[in-house]
Amino acid sequence: MTAPLVGVLALQGDVREHRRALEAAGATVRSVRTADELDGLDGIVLPGGESTTIGRLLDVFGLLSPLRDALGAGLPAYGCCAGMVLLADEVVGGPPGQVLLGGLDVTVRRNAFGSQVHSFEAPLAVAGLDSDLHAVFIRAPWVERAGPGVHVLAEVRGHPVAVRQGDLLATSFHPELTGDVRLHALFVQVVRASIAAEATRGRAS
Ligand code: GLN
Repeated sequence: MTAPLVGVLALQGDVREHRRALEAAGATVRSVRTADELDGLDGIVLPGGESTTIGRLLDVFGLLSPLRDALGAGLPAYGCCAGMVLLADEVVGGPPGQVLLGGLDVTVRRNAFGSQVHSFEAPLAVAGLDSDLHAVFIRAPWVERAGPGVHVLAEVRGHPVAVRQGDLLATSFHPELTGDVRLHALFVQVVRASIAAEATRGRAS
């Protein structure tokens, strides 16, 4: 089976760590800074950073509409931390009019864990993984409202911190910092399944 081609949005954040985790999970990886670089992708990862800054950079780099269109057309995506914020349909705790990509039927609260627990690490049970994942939270968001099509994969203090809606995956925490590539492998599986479904549709039409 050929490796799926997965992009990593490379405007800000720990692009290298996501690239490494995706490669370890069996993907071919392309850093994405321009609309052209979206062409031919089977999936995309939106790394953490500062969601307001990434939103502005998406606009400056001419990626906002093309990436929205690609997501709207069904491009599988994994949003990590700030990436989760960007994928959300709605955000609270951000500046008015914060630019989002949207697509994920959730309301996300930015910096939800508050200043006392700016950053923390904890073992976390994630649905579909056979043992706890060591989760690193850095000024992390949580999900405040999840629509009916959203599956909660993990929670902290009663709030979802990992969710999946169809081919969209999002986590509040940073698995790319731990050397544990199971979440990236889960995303690569989502991408492979989407390629297979596309091929079946192609044959049927
Ligand atoms: N607090 C950041 C934001 O809302 C996210 C932090 C992160 O990605 N580690 O954009």
